[in-house]
Amino acid sequence: MGHEVKYPEGHVLLRKFHDPLPVVDRGEGVYLFDTSGKRYIDGSCGALVTSVGYGNKEVIDVISEQLARVPYVNGNHFTSAACEELAALLCERAPGRLDRAFFLSSGSEAIEAGIKFVRQYFVDAGKPAKHKVIARTPGYHGNTLFALSASGRPRYKKFFGPLLSEVVMIPTPYEYRSPVQPYEGAGEDYYVAALDEAIRREGAHTIACVLMETVSGTSTGGSCAPKNYFRRVQKLCRDNDILMIADEVLCGVGRTGTFYAADQESFEPDVMILGKGLNGGYAPLSAMLTRTDLVDVIAQASGSYMHAQTYINTPSSIAAGLGVIRYLDRHRVIEKSRDTGDYLRAELKKHFAGHPVVGHVGGRGMLAGLELVSNKATKAPIPRALKASETLNRMLLSKGLVSWFNTGQVDGTEGDVLVLGPPLTIKRAEVDELIAILRDGFDAWYAAFSKS
Ligand code: PLP
Repeated sequence: MGHEVKYPEGHVLLRKFHDPLPVVDRGEGVYLFDTSGKRYIDGSCGALVTSVGYGNKEVIDVISEQLARVPYVNGNHFTSAACEELAALLCERAPGRLDRAFFLSSGSEAIEAGIKFVRQYFVDAGKPAKHKVIARTPGYHGNTLFALSASGRPRYKKFFGPLLSEVVMIPTPYEYRSPVQPYEGAGEDYYVAALDEAIRREGAHTIACVLMETVSGTSTGGSCAPKNYFRRVQKLCRDNDILMIADEVLCGVGRTGTFYAADQESFEPDVMILGKGLNGGYAPLSAMLTRTDLVDVIAQASGSYMHAQTYINTPSSIAAGLGVIRYLDRHRVIEKSRDTGDYLRAELKKHFAGHPVVGHVGGRGMLAGLELVSNKATKAPIPRALKASETLNRMLLSKGLVSWFNTGQVDGTEGDVLVLGPPLTIKRAEVDELIAILRDGFDAWYAAFSKS
């Protein structure tokens, strides 16, 4: 094996068939190294995952200890001290009345578990007509079939239409592209009215829940809702007996500067979904949090929650979550990351807001998005056929910066967003290095791109 592998070399089904992938060797702090010795600064934690960096000894020790003690048990047979401790840690700092946790492996699975929980709750509560889910476009909740159905990403659905479920879609608050301005005020009214209208149209008696990312992640590059949006959504939901599921797979566990992104919003979700930064990349781990009073309805009617998978509440994966949270707490990482995150976004604004193809620099905490456009006055996107995101990302990787991108946020097809979200542990000097590589890579990409 060389230092790069390109399909059809080897036996791995590499998802992308046209680009060679470097072979990674190891990671250390905010850096990755490939087998040729080349160093990359991880500007996006892979897919916004490795929140406490690579080679984190304190996290590894917690996992090693758990692996030696007992790596796996069937979650139908046993609980474990690790499982009980992580559930308590997450619940005691959770907003509102979230006081039960259920652990799975990926964000998509936890979304499925949350949707099934809500559906079973309403059937067990004697309201079987309540089955519809309201979700938002643009948005992303995962790639399993229901999570994909609820995702406002039309191009991901291209091949799978006949397999997907119907989900009622409303627009995501999207500051840069809000059709109604000012965003705080008339924009807020517009987005809340969209939910109100959907509830009236569909009939509250048919609607089980709304599923929303608290801070919209890769789909918009970190767009935050207007100030009172969630409070007003919550009122509509409570008035209509609709549960709120907050998807914090990407924005939770410190990514936006507080443990839960909901801590900066005025609402109390009925179900919360976590993943990515919860495990820091040390093991696949996601979580669904909910309320005992809802669980009790199921306990008294059906007698068990009708959702199980082989890896529910797996101790060794849970140890990754325990290690990450203990580390975050012990070193006050989230608190410190607020300053560094502000610095990162300020530097991005300073160096990129004036760039001819950067329409907007947004985000919150250690999450930032640069929206690429062909015309800043009209906000017209760069024609997708030019593959701006793909070519820019390839250039940045060649310069030693790992970043993430999303496309299609404008109308399902058009639109390019560069997403950055380095480890929460990144230091200012490392942010400076990240920005320097980004500027160099961006300039080199733009020089070639503007001629094409
Ligand atoms: N929800 C959000 C907001 C996400 O960003 C993602 C993944 O990117 C998911 C859910 C799905 O998580 P996973 O890829 O772990 O299944």
